[in-house]
Amino acid sequence: MVKVNKNFSNLVPNYLFADVARKTNEFIKANPDKKIIRLGIGDVTLPLAPVVVEAMKKGCDELGVKDTFKGYPDYEGYEFLRKAVSDYYGSFGVNVSADEILINDGAKSDAGNIVNIFSEDNVVLVTDPVYPVYVDSNIMDGRTILYADCTEENGFCALPDPSVKADLIYLCSPNNPTGACYTREQLKKWVDYANGNGAIIIYDAAYEAFITEEDVPRSIMEIDGARTCAIEMCSLSKTAGFTGTRCGYTVIPKELEADGTNIYNLWYRRLSTKFNGVSYPVQCAAAAVFSEEGQKQIKENIAYYQENAKIIAGTMDELGIKYTGGVNSPYIWLKCPDGMGSWEFFDYLLEKINVVGTPGEGFGKNGKGWFRLTSFGDRENTVEAMKRFKELFKK
Ligand code: PLP
Repeated sequence: MVKVNKNFSNLVPNYLFADVARKTNEFIKANPDKKIIRLGIGDVTLPLAPVVVEAMKKGCDELGVKDTFKGYPDYEGYEFLRKAVSDYYGSFGVNVSADEILINDGAKSDAGNIVNIFSEDNVVLVTDPVYPVYVDSNIMDGRTILYADCTEENGFCALPDPSVKADLIYLCSPNNPTGACYTREQLKKWVDYANGNGAIIIYDAAYEAFITEEDVPRSIMEIDGARTCAIEMCSLSKTAGFTGTRCGYTVIPKELEADGTNIYNLWYRRLSTKFNGVSYPVQCAAAAVFSEEGQKQIKENIAYYQENAKIIAGTMDELGIKYTGGVNSPYIWLKCPDGMGSWEFFDYLLEKINVVGTPGEGFGKNGKGWFRLTSFGDRENTVEAMKRFKELFKK
């Protein structure tokens, strides 16, 4: 008789966004005349840049003509896109060659699947609060998971504890949900820890395009020693509005080894067995993101979200509400006023000003009493939501 993977029973049911949606819908049903503003979910609202749409259309046209038709793409992505990503890294001084880049259908797939190439007896370290994919994909394999506390005291940037022995370490900077970012000095500590302990860092740079400050690294590959201990994942979802289009990339330095095995080769073996690549039009669209005009156009969209973040952060400053993020990140992670719990604050905002956010405790125990707002909404709604905040919290 077939047996299922019993590790799945150790997953916590994904209550967070389901509960947010249920509570919001109940409220709407009971109050059909109220205008709800959603600053909860981390999805983008601006359309794809024109140059990206054009490139995708051109890719489609080529598929419709015999001479330019293409079948299966390369597993690791077309060279034109890998070269464009490599040049992009070069633009901020990081040397990553095109053959160290693997194109995927978004960062979530690789973030969840990379564990396939690592033994189940590795000890995993994640930060808390955390993007749940890192935790759940390891629970599915039955690995032991340790948590590094990210708190107000350490600026939501946990540093390595030499007494803790971990093999696989997940870091996300700029962070979802806290918006906190590691500095180069802090990342160097993680890199040194990983190299000293034979560990590998899985670095999620999905929000790197939101970095504005010079001392915040855009890539872990900026850090000396990272090439022997880190894998980096990035995505065009938030950078260029690809949440529905789907494209991202993973960087595995050619010299990265573990247990006597080359990690790029091992991942390539897994990839070529279970993945048949990203469609040609999407890769054309992705390459357009990295063109001069593409960068100009996507930066306009990012600037729009950054302005939203400024409006939210400015309101928190004015009201004396503590927060992190908002500067190098599309997320504002705020401390619920008056000692309210995350869900209590959620209900309070929904009830009093009809604004929806995300309760921090959904991301881990250190999220208790914290709350995430996103800057991915449209301007008018963001301004209106902050006006309502001011009316509610002005002492
Ligand atoms: N990594 C982080 C930290 C995210 O917040 C998200 C999406 O919200 C992803 C990865 C997944 O992005 P993608 O759309 O590329 O799968």
